[in-house]
Amino acid sequence: ISNDKMETFEKYESVVRSYSRGWPTVFEKAKGYKIWDVDGKEFIDFFAGAGALNYGHNDDVMQEKLIEYIRNDGILHSLDMGTTPRKMFLEAFQETILTPRNLRYQIMFPGPTGTNSVESALKIARKVTGRDTVISFTNAFHGMTIGSLSVTGNSFKRHGAGVPLHHSVFMPFDEYAEDQDSLVYLERFLEDNGSGVALPAAIILETVQGEGGINAARMEWLRKIETLCKRWDILLIVDDVQAGCGRTGTFFSFEPAGINPDIVCLSKSIGGIGLPMAITLIKPEYDKWGPGEHNGTFRGNNLAFIGATEALRYWETDDFSNEIKASAAFIRRQVDSIIDRFPELKGEARGRGLMQGIAVNVEGLANEICAESFNRGLIIETSGPNDEVVKFLPPLIIDQVGLEKGFEILNQSIKHVLS
Ligand code: PMP
Repeated sequence: ISNDKMETFEKYESVVRSYSRGWPTVFEKAKGYKIWDVDGKEFIDFFAGAGALNYGHNDDVMQEKLIEYIRNDGILHSLDMGTTPRKMFLEAFQETILTPRNLRYQIMFPGPTGTNSVESALKIARKVTGRDTVISFTNAFHGMTIGSLSVTGNSFKRHGAGVPLHHSVFMPFDEYAEDQDSLVYLERFLEDNGSGVALPAAIILETVQGEGGINAARMEWLRKIETLCKRWDILLIVDDVQAGCGRTGTFFSFEPAGINPDIVCLSKSIGGIGLPMAITLIKPEYDKWGPGEHNGTFRGNNLAFIGATEALRYWETDDFSNEIKASAAFIRRQVDSIIDRFPELKGEARGRGLMQGIAVNVEGLANEICAESFNRGLIIETSGPNDEVVKFLPPLIIDQVGLEKGFEILNQSIKHVLS
């Protein structure tokens, strides 16, 4: 990669930039699961805009609908005015997603990003309960504002706040607690008046931790948390910003557990075509803000509503879900074969659905693999506290050809890095 291609970023942008360092090129266009840079080099996308492009890049129908809306002078500012796209989205979300799943939620637009959704969830849980502590889990990632960062279990990111972060208590996430169930401890503390542990307002979790290393919670653990929350009148917040919108095979990641969280955070792919959008789903009894108590200029982007409404069509039948599950099974076979083929990786399979990864238990190797994959035309990212997990997050619409090609590049890259 020539230096002058990256020079502009170095010259004008803050040092905080991150992805432009990891993938040193200038991207120009994208379609489906492919991206091209200014030199016409093609990349297979196993990243999907960090989960914001579950339906792929520039979906034909969404693109057409957006162009038509703009051509017809649709309303382009946001706020939360009543507009046709907003009305259409609310109706479609209710009919396609909530009603068939027997879920009763009020839909709220908290602002344009996932962080905004988490922030609104923390606020409403505190307002409803009048309590301040929120329980979170090791390696959790919930966002970058002071509130959402306070429940994020990553000391590097927390350090970015510059001040101590308050009102959160961390417990070990399911995966690390097989033989010492953290929920048993939590319950013991809550039962013991002398322990001084205040009753928390909420428990917040990802069913599959994305940034934290593709750690998938067991369904049984999720059900235990729901029971504990009910017993102690604690609100259960599921942050489905990354694991939701079909990423794990069902629209909501918690569906296979059969739980019914009090608050659900969605963002990333909810906008369909990658436009900023977030929603917070709140059980009607907790919908306690008065008009204007939580507002924001960009908390209802009409262009995003167009993409979002169109995206919901994927969920009108079970076909899409079945396709995702088939792709997920293929990826799991590829992951297992890589772990077998390259014992030097000391690899470990992680995740579920199209949110999988390989934990590489050799320091620095996962990053090297991703960098080599980039050189060979595959976009993948690492996750986990030490960047030790190579994570596979392709657009859900990826076909067999794309998956095979991606894994072929990955296999070659691993071979090269290990040689
Ligand atoms: N929650 C989870 C689970 C996430 O993965 C992310 C983003 N990686 C966020 C919240 C924050 O979303 P955003 O970056 O859109 O603010």
